[in-house]
Amino acid sequence: MEMVTRSISDPELLRQIVRVVPSHGYLSTGAFVGIQIFNIARRALGFSEGERLFVTCETFSCMPDAFQVLGGCTIGNKGLWIEDLGKMAATISKRAPRGATRIEGVRIVLDPAKTASYPRLHTWYMNTEKVPHEEAISDLNRAEDGVYTWEMVEVEVAEKPKKRIAICKNCCESFVLWGDERLCRSCAEGSS
Ligand SMILES: [Zn+2]
Repeated sequence: MEMVTRSISDPELLRQIVRVVPSHGYLSTGAFVGIQIFNIARRALGFSEGERLFVTCETFSCMPDAFQVLGGCTIGNKGLWIEDLGKMAATISKRAPRGATRIEGVRIVLDPAKTASYPRLHTWYMNTEKVPHEEAISDLNRAEDGVYTWEMVEVEVAEKPKKRIAICKNCCESFVLWGDERLCRSCAEGSS
């Protein structure tokens, strides 16, 4: 970790890294991208630490852990949604007030047209050869916001239907109903 972070002097950024690393296991380039995207969103939307957020992350890899740790957006509290498009991009908004159907958010992407100015980072991004995390992160730290592109977007707020529970006629376990099915999905799929 000292190797990876020796190019970083911003104390706030180091504090964020220290928080993310135990969850992620180490400082990967993708986790660092997540931290930078979180910080761009914080400036664009003006939220403060501890404020409830909603994130749609466009990859399962690395990046989500930054939002889980720094933004408190988890799968379990529904603050984190993964739309796995295989993109280094995320859309972040504050939690909508009760009754709202839309809220302003920001979609931020690591932009290949901009990473092209940073050869080691770009090589990592395009995965044309193995690049040590230390080198890619050093480029990202130097570039700061300069390798990202973002735009304000309207985020649709999903309404929360009342949860209905049924007991499966086959395995007798309870499950959340989607419609009026009589079998849980594992039994329904097993019997089809
Ligand atoms: Zn069942």
